[in-house]
Amino acid sequence: MQIGIDLGGTKIEAIALDATGRELARLRVVTPRAYTDTIVALGALVTQLETVTGQHGTVGLGIPGAVTPDTGLVKNANSVWLIGRPLGADLAALLQREVRLENDANCFALSEATDGAAAGAEVVFGVIMGTGVGGGIIVRGRSMSGRNLIAGEWGHNPLPWPQPDELPGPACYCGKHGCIESWVSGPAVAADHQRVTGQALPTPDIIAAAEFGAHDALATRARFIGRATRGLATVINLLDPDVIVLGGGLSNVPRLADDIAAQLPAWVFSDRVHTSIVRNRHGDSSGVRGAAWLWPAS
Ligand SMILES: [Zn+2]
Repeated sequence: MQIGIDLGGTKIEAIALDATGRELARLRVVTPRAYTDTIVALGALVTQLETVTGQHGTVGLGIPGAVTPDTGLVKNANSVWLIGRPLGADLAALLQREVRLENDANCFALSEATDGAAAGAEVVFGVIMGTGVGGGIIVRGRSMSGRNLIAGEWGHNPLPWPQPDELPGPACYCGKHGCIESWVSGPAVAADHQRVTGQALPTPDIIAAAEFGAHDALATRARFIGRATRGLATVINLLDPDVIVLGGGLSNVPRLADDIAAQLPAWVFSDRVHTSIVRNRHGDSSGVRGAAWLWPAS
């Protein structure tokens, strides 16, 4: 049995999978805002899953950040109480077994590459466009972390081929201007709509209005898709994956994958673009499922 845990900023979700990927049990709790409480909550979830199923499980954990290999300490986490803490070692000590940790975007990509929308593909780029913008690279079923643990983090590259009115671009929390994340995250789309129209609307409302044919919303949708396409074109130029899987809240934009695929040939350095652009299969469950697959079924 494989146990996967997705440690999010607001909730912790945990599932138990059998070797075929069938879900045996699932639990969800609110994320504690302190480190020790978080360890206790994670341990309790594993114990409960094993009690419910009557089986012993491997444990994989997806976190909003990365773990420095030399030290085992968490870095780059937006759940700041985790930063600088030996989360893996402490959880392993509590559970009396090895625990594998991975960035949550990499878990998403691993889930979709294992038995999701990109199952069987050799090189997969999993994209998160949600509250933030991230990504993960899977090669032959393995997550590529990278020497600096930032492989696939396309969100803080600058928006490619910027138009004059896209310069210098919105300020990003990373200290730069015009990062891809500052254009194609959920909050960024709402901010873009407000800059152009003066209307403050949540992004899901803008997307819904576009479906009803509202001109302002259609224009915002078109700018979003054009920018996402330009960003992904540079990913293809560098990595040339077989499949790009779209995830995060904005992957719910109707026809997003087809619209991006239609525009890619204008930007990719190739006379034809064979890359498959697909929506995720496992939706919100990809994080926990990918964490579970950090221990592949044997
Ligand atoms: Zn940035």
